Amino acid sequence: MSDLVVADLVAGYGDARVLHGVSFTVREGEVCAILGPNGAGKTTLLRALSGVVRVRGTVTLGGTTLAGRSPDTIARHGVAHVPEGRGTFMPLTVEENLRLGAYVRRGGAEVEEDLGRIYTYFPVLKTRLKQAAGSLSGGEQQMLALGRALMLRPRLLLLDEPSLGLAPLVTRELFRIVQAINAEERTTVVVVEQNAHLALGIAQQAHVLETGRIVLSGTAAEIRADEQVAQSYLGYR
Ligand code: ATP
Repeated sequence: MSDLVVADLVAGYGDARVLHGVSFTVREGEVCAILGPNGAGKTTLLRALSGVVRVRGTVTLGGTTLAGRSPDTIARHGVAHVPEGRGTFMPLTVEENLRLGAYVRRGGAEVEEDLGRIYTYFPVLKTRLKQAAGSLSGGEQQMLALGRALMLRPRLLLLDEPSLGLAPLVTRELFRIVQAINAEERTTVVVVEQNAHLALGIAQQAHVLETGRIVLSGTAAEIRADEQVAQSYLGYR
């Protein structure tokens, strides 16, 4: 099983510690939502999982140790990170961006096959192949970032605030596609999201992070039913 196991994870920037011992497990093929207020350390958590910030503690995927490895090595182990702000290369075309996503792979027929698969998830990208990524709308750019991550054939997809700056309709469409990817490819997903309704709508498990610690964990239904969460993140009660 390619479960993600995180235990006693400590991470930060220089001397500033942001995560103070975070532990959770995501079962293979499940979606896990990470909720929490601004500055709680959600982005730092994803960066720690993908090797962008240095960590102490345990991170394993399917039993393979990821903690302490470089982002490149972690990507080769099947972890794709779609950062907040998307990280697409604006001057490059849509097609070039997608092909870059396969950089850790051998190429050839597999890459062509994957491009085809990505166009079925994101038909709009196929109509924009020769356009610069910078000329796309916000929603299309987020789709491109997701498509590029899929070119890695990830076992684990890390999504940081996919809804940021997008209109509600576009966001819903994006989450529908994430759910389809999760269902069809059995890709495990960890999603950090301000829109708790949407995240809990596709997640099996969720954790609430506050000042670098998990303060609440449960199934999506349990978290949705929690009085405090409802008040803080769901906007009712
Ligand atoms: P937001 O929803 O606002 O993005 P977050 O929960 O994702 O919040 P982080 O971005 O992980 O939180 O930030 C956690 C803490 O780490 C904050 O206090 C922030 O100021 C600090 N921090 C984030 N990035 C850096 C950095 N590159 N250098 C130093 N400190 C940072």
